[in-house]
Amino acid sequence: MKEPALPGTSLQRACRLLVAFCALHLSATLLYYLAGSSLTPPRSPEPPPRRPPPANLSLPPSEQLRPVSAQPRTRPDSAQPGLCPDPSPLLVGPLRVEFSQPVNLEEVANTNPDVREGGRFAPKDCKALQKVAIIIPFRNREEHLKYWLYYMHPILQRQQLDYGVYVINQDGDEEFNRAKLLNIGFVEALKEYEYDCFVFSDVDLIPMDDRNTYKCYSQPRHLSVSMDKFGFRLPYNQYFGGVSALSKEQFTKINGFPNNYWGWGGEDDDIYNRLVFKGMGISRPDAIIGKCRMIRHSRDRKNEPNPERFDRIAHTRETMSSDGLNSLSYKVLRTDRFPLYTRITVAIGSPGS
Ligand code: BGC
Repeated sequence: MKEPALPGTSLQRACRLLVAFCALHLSATLLYYLAGSSLTPPRSPEPPPRRPPPANLSLPPSEQLRPVSAQPRTRPDSAQPGLCPDPSPLLVGPLRVEFSQPVNLEEVANTNPDVREGGRFAPKDCKALQKVAIIIPFRNREEHLKYWLYYMHPILQRQQLDYGVYVINQDGDEEFNRAKLLNIGFVEALKEYEYDCFVFSDVDLIPMDDRNTYKCYSQPRHLSVSMDKFGFRLPYNQYFGGVSALSKEQFTKINGFPNNYWGWGGEDDDIYNRLVFKGMGISRPDAIIGKCRMIRHSRDRKNEPNPERFDRIAHTRETMSSDGLNSLSYKVLRTDRFPLYTRITVAIGSPGS
């Protein structure tokens, strides 16, 4: 039997066939794309964010001292760097600090290639939050200074500070005068750079945690709060000795430090009184972050406990406006710029002069 012919002319039949073909093609293409999109391999994930080196209690000191210049250099030379993040992402936390191996300063300079002559450093890829002068009162403690430089340069670089190290060396062999040397450090450092923060540090104290940032706060900062020498606690609540940080404003508000404490003791208590009398309080890190080690040593010659100290501390309120920055007199004998620090040797007179 003859198949029934499709209705319409052959032209109409051809058109119908074309439409059917197009519809088929369209749905096939659609299906292909729908299936295709779900088969496309996922895009490779974002690389994980860069992490700072891990905190490690048992790192040998040489590992902790890796130069910090490994920071990525991505900024085009013309662009202004942004402010450094707070806290610095380079911090590692607790550190092992010990004083058994001798330190070679040439090696320390080699492992800190970004520290410039005179002991200056500023981060390359961001703008430091503060410009910090670190002032160390000094006489005849070369071995201690070597440990200080060995430990502190890597820490300060990881803290991303724009800093300079000033060792104020008392000439001669009169009684030592710590507070007067600190006043001199403040004045001399400001002649060199626009520092806005001053960290006053004994040469024999090393922090055991780099989160204890050597910078200034809205209140004067006591940094050496948890010393091994005192069983990792404050010897008394008002203790302000060892390492402290004052902004330029805080320092000038109290007329600097006293100039007339000759020999050991009392000057830090006088400084504490000055701060309180000017309405300031003390800011401190907690007892874990504030841990630090002191290099054991016998008492220096010409730094005997000062018998006058109790009487002086009792009169800070009356003496502070006339004894301090405004009565400071000294003579710079020489300035030496070494690769890791600036040493300023000064004649400061003697008790009663
Ligand atoms: C002295 C301070 C000293 C403190 C801790 C006090 O009696 O006056 O100068 O820092 O003891 O040794």
